[in-house]
Amino acid sequence: MSVDVLAKIAQQVSVCEKCPLHHSRKNAVPGQGPADAAIMFIGEGPGFHENEQGLPFVGAAGKFLDDLLAKIGMQRSDVFITNVVKCRPPGNRDPLAQELEACGDYLERQIQTINPQVIVTLGRFSMARFLPDAKISTVHGQSMQVRGRLVVPMYHPAAALHQGSLRPVIERDFSQLPGLIAKAADAPELHDAPRDDRQDPKQLSFF
Ligand code: SF4
Repeated sequence: MSVDVLAKIAQQVSVCEKCPLHHSRKNAVPGQGPADAAIMFIGEGPGFHENEQGLPFVGAAGKFLDDLLAKIGMQRSDVFITNVVKCRPPGNRDPLAQELEACGDYLERQIQTINPQVIVTLGRFSMARFLPDAKISTVHGQSMQVRGRLVVPMYHPAAALHQGSLRPVIERDFSQLPGLIAKAADAPELHDAPRDDRQDPKQLSFF
């Protein structure tokens, strides 16, 4: 059962010591959402409030994410939300390459288990996992087929909180999601393609 697999991953994350971030965490944040979610949001890493509560996107950026979801008729319980690193980088610094590498297998297993129709990356570290050479200012809001999955890079909601001009950009990008989910559900190449997320990440095509 996918629920059991996700619970096992969460349990492993909660006691993980694979990278130095475990030293400073209060709570690991494995992710939250239904095991059969059609859409998966992948952010960068837990912040202060996430570290306190062990839940993803519970601070101001999380509130904005809830608002964005509400605008497209969805709610948090409809989607799976996680991050590329499951423990808070001290001071909210960027995750380091060794931390991304150490934590990557948990995310990979979550993706394989949930098998979402659409993956939305929030921020550049999450985007780089699928589109290592892309610039977010160029590709945000564009849907791309990456290794048999539909991936839509977007700005991180926290970026819009710091830079107000990004707010309408994110809202516009989010407004496309219901249509993209419907398209993905009707795309046999996305159902039938082999989904090995460890293949060459540079193979992509526009959907
Ligand atoms: S960030 Fe990931 S790899 Fe590092 S200790 Fe936390 S769960 Fe383990």
